[in-house]
Amino acid sequence: MKVYLDNAATTPMAPEVIDEMTNVMKANFGNPSSTHAFGREARGVIEVARRKIAASIGAEPKEIVFTSGGTEADNMAISCAINDMGVTRVISATIEHHAVGRCIEGEQAFQVDYVRVSETGSIDLEHLELLLQDPQKTLVSLMHANNEIGTLLNIEVVSALCKKYNAYFHSDSVQTMGHYTIDVKSFGADFLTCSAHKFHGPKGIGFLYVNKRVKVSPLIQGGSQERGMRGGTENITGIVGLAKALELANSDILAHQEYVQGLKSYMITQLRERIPGVSFHGEIAPEKSLYTVLNVCFPPFENKSMLLFLLDLDGIAASGGSACTSGASTGSHVLRGIQADSNRPNSRFSFSRYTTMEEINYVLEILEKIVVGVPVSNVE
Ligand code: PLP
Repeated sequence: MKVYLDNAATTPMAPEVIDEMTNVMKANFGNPSSTHAFGREARGVIEVARRKIAASIGAEPKEIVFTSGGTEADNMAISCAINDMGVTRVISATIEHHAVGRCIEGEQAFQVDYVRVSETGSIDLEHLELLLQDPQKTLVSLMHANNEIGTLLNIEVVSALCKKYNAYFHSDSVQTMGHYTIDVKSFGADFLTCSAHKFHGPKGIGFLYVNKRVKVSPLIQGGSQERGMRGGTENITGIVGLAKALELANSDILAHQEYVQGLKSYMITQLRERIPGVSFHGEIAPEKSLYTVLNVCFPPFENKSMLLFLLDLDGIAASGGSACTSGASTGSHVLRGIQADSNRPNSRFSFSRYTTMEEINYVLEILEKIVVGVPVSNVE
């Protein structure tokens, strides 16, 4: 049996998305900047997609800037805040995705303050408020859900704090867009980040939501595409795929949420029953935790450093942290950031609406075999 439980790294594309993209590839090859009919048609396709996406998050079309994905959108928000908005200080956390963390580190001429996080990866809001009392022009960049441990940010509370102290607010919402109902007005952020491949859309496309009250200039210089906000011929098929994937995700988002949360809760209960000493990294209460991610902390066992390899041998794809760093020898900065016990092996299992209960049961059997040594019964 082959089981894919690495959906926080990327998701399989929905067939409906592939169909939509294929149609556009065949019918709309024109350059959207061309003034002839082919170009105008391609432009029309992009603007319809932009309007749909904007409407689904309560934004205006002009507030959506298409990018090459989450990394570029995160970089754009941070670099633009520093270069165009007079920001002299960034408040962030050490457990952010590298698309944020490395970008901030690269902006060395500016002050960076790291807000304290708890051992479950929750932001210390009192510390954040204390940091915000410094009157410098500040950007707060805190992710909506942690991609490795799933802990959710109370985005409305952080946004209200930012307003109170006149700070700009960026939230990397790569892991939540397409998984929760997003309303930019109630979120109150200046920037939000989206990446299509995290919700059954194509790779290499995403967007940055830029609140119309902030004025920024492009990160990528070149042509005047994206209303002058990003140079480069638009990825029209990607944009259409992103719009379709978001439409599908939003069409029955609560049912997906309930279904996937059910799988996750079942896995938590079963792991507790079957693996003595198991625990979990990050928050696991449904209201505080991303329902697609479960980071399991196993008791030490023989071959513990081979866990992911052993799972892979049995056909199970999971991850030992952020996929973007898999293969790196430095380990997970998130687990370091929450001071996780480095002697205990961990694995991130991440689910999607295509994950089945049968697959979860298979994974539980294999985990029991690997970690506790219980023989596997009747599995293919
Ligand atoms: N931010 C988070 C939280 C992510 O999980 C990822 C991808 O792993 C990214 C940003 C980067 O997105 P992309 O792969 O579209 O560049």
